[in-house]
Amino acid sequence: MDPWRLHAPLLSPVSPTELRWHPSGAVAVGADGRMLYAGDAAALPEQLLALPARETSDVVLPGFVDLHTHLPQYDARGKFGMTLLEWLEHFIFPEEARFADDAVARDVSTRFFRGMLEAGTTTAMVFSSVHRSATHIAFEEAERSKLRVILGKVQMDRDVPAALLETADASIRDTEILIDAWHRKTERLWVAVTPRFAPTCSMDLMRRSAALAHRHGTYVQTHLNESEAEIRMVRALFPDAGSYTAVYRDAGLLGERTVLAHNIHASDEELDLCAQHRCAVAHCPDSNLFLGSGRFPLQRTLDRGIRAGLGSDVGAGTTLSMFGVMRSMCWVQARSLHPFLPLYFATRGGAEALSMDGDIGSLEQGKQADMVAVRVDRHFHRGRDLAHLKPLEIASALVYRSQPGDVREVWVGGESLYRAET
Ligand SMILES: [Zn+2]
Repeated sequence: MDPWRLHAPLLSPVSPTELRWHPSGAVAVGADGRMLYAGDAAALPEQLLALPARETSDVVLPGFVDLHTHLPQYDARGKFGMTLLEWLEHFIFPEEARFADDAVARDVSTRFFRGMLEAGTTTAMVFSSVHRSATHIAFEEAERSKLRVILGKVQMDRDVPAALLETADASIRDTEILIDAWHRKTERLWVAVTPRFAPTCSMDLMRRSAALAHRHGTYVQTHLNESEAEIRMVRALFPDAGSYTAVYRDAGLLGERTVLAHNIHASDEELDLCAQHRCAVAHCPDSNLFLGSGRFPLQRTLDRGIRAGLGSDVGAGTTLSMFGVMRSMCWVQARSLHPFLPLYFATRGGAEALSMDGDIGSLEQGKQADMVAVRVDRHFHRGRDLAHLKPLEIASALVYRSQPGDVREVWVGGESLYRAET
C-alpha cells in the first residue's frame, strides 16, 4: 500500500474518563498500514506533507471492537419472548443446527462479516456453531473480509439437542484441527477455544479445552453469570465448586487471554477471582436488555481494574452496530452515562481486553490505521463548524445520536474496505 494521509476531525479514547479531540486533525498511514502520525494537522511533520492527501468533514474514530458475538445467530436476532435458557432451546439451538449445511454457513458468514464492516467494527471476537466445517467456512469469510477476527468453534458435550451434541474427544480434535489451520494464519486471524458455558460442558471437556488453549497460545471465550436460572443450573451441576467463576478456575480456563461474556450476577469473590486471574469481561448491554438478564456491575468491575469492552452478542443482541450497543450500555445502568465511557469500552477498552492495545483501539502513531468515519448530524451543532464543539459535545452526539447509517467509511490497516454510497 502506498503511504497516504487523511485530514479529518479526529476523536480517540485514552481512558474511561479521557479522550483526545482534534477538530482539525490528520492521520498519516505508512506502507505497513500503521499510523506514522495522528494528531493536530498543524503539527504534521513536514516530511509527511508530500504524501497524497484526502480530506473529510466526517469524524474519524478508531474502528470499533466487538468483544462478543455469535455468527450463526445473525439471522435469529429479535426472537422475543423468553429468558436465556428457553430462548436457547426454542430459537437458538435449532438455528445453530442449520449450520450442518455448508451452504447456510457460507451465506450467513458472508453477510455477517459484511454487516460488521458496514457497522464500523474492525475487530471482533466471535462464536461459531459446533460444526467444524461451518467454522472453517466462517474463517474463510473472515479472511476474505480483511477484518481482525478471533473465532472459535463452539464446544458442548452435554445437555443440548442431539444435532448439536459432540463428544469431548471429537470437540478437542476438531478444535485442534481448526487451530492448526487458522490460528495466526494471517496477522488478522486468531482462534479462541470456545466452551459454550458450564451448563453444556463437562469438566473433562473444559479441562482439556484449557490445556489446548494453553498449548497453542490461543484465546478462550465463554459465558458467565448471565441469568439467575443459568447460575442455579451451574450450582446443581458443580455443587462443590463454590461459585460459577470457580468452575472455570478449576478447569484452568481463567487467564489473561480469556474473555468472559456478561458476568452480571457476580459476587465480590467472583469479581476478585476474575481480577486475580486477569480475565477480561465482555459487557453486552443490548442482549441483557433483550433477555431481561440484569444490570451489569459496571462500577464494581471498573473498581477492580478488570479489563472490559462491549459486545453486540448477536442474536440476543439485536444489532451489530456499536452505536446501538453504546446507547444500551447507558440505558442498562438506568442513568445517563458520561459518553466518554461507552466510547472507551467500544474501542480501546475492547482492545485492552484482548491485549491488543499496542496495535489497535486508538488513533496513535505506531498503531494500525483501523478507523471509522462517522457523519455527525449537523443539526446537533446547529451547523457550526465542528471545531467549535467541546469533547463532551462531540462524544454526546456520537453516543446518543448516531445511527448505523452514519458510518461513511471504514479502514483496516489503512486500507479502505467500505465506503457509503452517498
Ligand atoms: Zn453470547
